[in-house]
Order: sequence, then structure tokens, then C-alpha cells
Amino acid sequence: MDILKQAAALLKRAPLCDACLGRQFGMLGFGLTNAERGKALKIVLLLTAHRAAEAGDQQAIELLRALASNGFFRPARLLLEKMGLEAPEEAGECYLCCGVMDRVDELAQKALEALRAYEFSNFLVGIELPTWLEEREDELRAELGIQHGESLRNELSREIGKRISVALGVPVEFRKPDVVVLVQPLEDSVRLQVNPVFVAGRYRKLVRGIPQAKWVCTRCGGRGCPRCNWTGKLYPTSVSELITEPMIEAFEAEEAAFHAAGREDVDARMLGAGRPFVVELKRPRKRSVDLAALEEEINKRAEGMVSVSGLRYADRALVRRIKSEPAEKIYEVLVEFDEPVSDEQLRGLERALSGATIRQWTPTRVLHRRPDKLRVRRVYELKAIERLGPKRVRFRVRCDGGLYVKELVDGDGGRTTPSISEFIKVGAKALELDVVDVLMEV
Ligand SMILES: [Zn+2]
Ligand SMILES: [Zn+2]
Repeated sequence: MDILKQAAALLKRAPLCDACLGRQFGMLGFGLTNAERGKALKIVLLLTAHRAAEAGDQQAIELLRALASNGFFRPARLLLEKMGLEAPEEAGECYLCCGVMDRVDELAQKALEALRAYEFSNFLVGIELPTWLEEREDELRAELGIQHGESLRNELSREIGKRISVALGVPVEFRKPDVVVLVQPLEDSVRLQVNPVFVAGRYRKLVRGIPQAKWVCTRCGGRGCPRCNWTGKLYPTSVSELITEPMIEAFEAEEAAFHAAGREDVDARMLGAGRPFVVELKRPRKRSVDLAALEEEINKRAEGMVSVSGLRYADRALVRRIKSEPAEKIYEVLVEFDEPVSDEQLRGLERALSGATIRQWTPTRVLHRRPDKLRVRRVYELKAIERLGPKRVRFRVRCDGGLYVKELVDGDGGRTTPSISEFIKVGAKALELDVVDVLMEV
């Protein structure tokens, strides 16, 4: 079937606005809007039907009626009236878009208003249409063998996107847009999905007694109670809060998620070059922030407790990486033995545990919140680096991420084996633990 015959059949089948008629041939020709395609087809159909209709050709008259009934095409009405023929009732709205194509400017305006509060350098328009409406178009196309059509969703997304792009001078981005404008055309509603900004860096925790994550009070669940002194949390602050609060302010974000490459215990410091982390800032109003100044601000406010370095923009892929790659760690641990230990014993211990494979069941101290499972981790190097008394020795341990070092010291009642205590055959416990390096290229 040629294009004109298809167009005539479409118009006889249902009332269509210019854009919806043109969209059925949207893949034909460049540099035209679908409305222009549709209008052109209607005009050509009218011109070809004119004389035949005057000569009484029923087919031609029917076609003019179809054109007129659309209500979007005055010339067909005029021609019928001129010929003394009755023009049909005007159909209310377009069968395929329900009038949405007439409101593209309005929808784009709404989107622009919603976007005004946000900084973004690219965007995407997403269209949410009810299934029945999309099925209508599919069925009509199948019925009439239309092969070069574009979908309503596509056209709306493109046309609204074009208007936003021209108004603000920002490009459309398909892969990783800063903002997705979600339009529900039938409801006349526009929502924004503002994608997060990711900022990566490393942190050092300079004091003991601060958890990495905000520790919500287990008695009140964060609402506040006597146990938590009405703060809703068990520690006044955390690494995560100290870092994310200034970031939330700078990016004018609604909230933030703190992702780190592992964690240290509350009573362990995090020293050396620091632990890699990524902060995910959710629904930020600002996206271009001076990270050097932000770094200074965080360090000033968290003075003496936490410091960050190397802040830079990152993406979600880095979050996945730092969370999934168990990085090797270097720890320093101050150990107290129940009895004096000799230098020979320490040399023997170094030889025995450097390169050892450690079998470790979930430590008793975290068993209430973690499932009991066996971990197998390696100690690459264990070295006694400082003797502080007959029973006190500081060790440096390089091992796989995920190894519980306190239990490597005390053996956790046999749940971690081999252990320092097990090898020396003397009770031992970790008095102080510091992470001095997280070996990860980020
Ligand atoms: Zn339409
Ligand atoms: Zn509480």
C-alpha cells in the first residue's frame, strides 16, 4: 500500500491530529516534524479528492468526511460546505494521543519550572504512558501494515527534550543523565529523577571511639530515649556523619550514603593514607562544587577526629568496586600476653604466621548481628615491631581484607585458628588496633 492510501485508511479508521498521522511515517524523510508530515499528507489527500468529490465520487467524499471529522483540518469542512454537503460531527480528540500532542509546549514549560531549582549539565526525558494507549497505536499499525512509524513515547520524549534543550542550552544524555524528567502526559504531571553525585576520597580516623557509620540507638530505633540521652544514637558522631554533613550542605543534597572499602572497629584508628570511600549525594541541587574547599571545610569541622584527602568526582562503578574488592590491609595491634614472652617465641611466631591461612568463624562479639560462617583469610606478614614490656608487644600485620584481627590475637576460644595466642600457648588480647593502610588502587 502506498503512503497516501495508508494515510487515507488511517484517517477513515480514527480521528488523528497532524502529529499522530505524521508519526506513522516518522521514519521517512529528515528535517521534518511529524506534525509537518501529517499536515502535508492531509493537504495532498484533500487536493486529490477535490475534483473527484465534486464529480460525485463516493470514495472521495468519504475521504473528505474523514478529513473533516478529525476536527483538526478546517479545509476539508470548508470544501464539503462549499459543495453543499453536510460536514460530519467533529471528533473530540485525537485517537492516538488524546490531545497530548497539542500540549507539548505546556509540558515542556512544566518541566522547565521543575528543573529550575537544580544544577545539571545534561538530562533525559522519560515518558510514562498507559499501556492501553500504546496498544492502540500498535494495533492500528498492525491492522494497516504501517512500517515506518515512530512511537508516541519517542516523539514526546524528543519534542519535549528539544524544547528544554533549546531553552536552557543543555544537551540530552542517554547513558548517564544528571536529571531524568519523567513526564506523565495524560495526567499533565512532571516529576524529576535527580541522579546522585558521587565523591570519592580517603579518610583517616585519628581517634578511637568513633564508629564508621551512624549507630542508631537499638532501644528506641532512633526516636530518642533515656539510654541514648534523647539523641537517637549511641555515639555522638561517626566518620560517615563527619564527612557527609558538610557535603550535603555543599551539594544541597537531600541525603547521602557513605560507602567505604571495609570498616574498622569503633575502638580502632584508621591511619596511613586512609581508607577509600565514596559518598553518594542524593537529589543534589548543586553538582559542581569546589572539592578542594569542601575538603578543607570537612577537615576543619572534624578537626582532630577525622580527616579526608584526595576528594574527586566518581561514579557508581567505583562504589561497586570498593565494596566488592576485599583489599589487603596493614594493621598495627598492641598485644598483651598473660605471661612474659621471649624474643625467640616472637621470632617463631613471625615465621609461623607469615604466609599462614587463617580459618575464622564469625567472632563471638559480632555473632548477635552477623551470621555464623567460616572465613578463610591469609596473613601475608606478621612482625613484632615494638616491645613495650615483658608481656606487651606491638605487631604489624599485613593480611586479606575481612580478617578479624582481634580474634587473630586471642583466638576467640578456638573459633579462629591458628592465632597468636594458640601459637604461643599463652592467653593474649588486643589492647589497641589501628589500620595503617588499605592497599587499594582507587
Ligand atoms: Zn494525536
Ligand atoms: Zn534511644
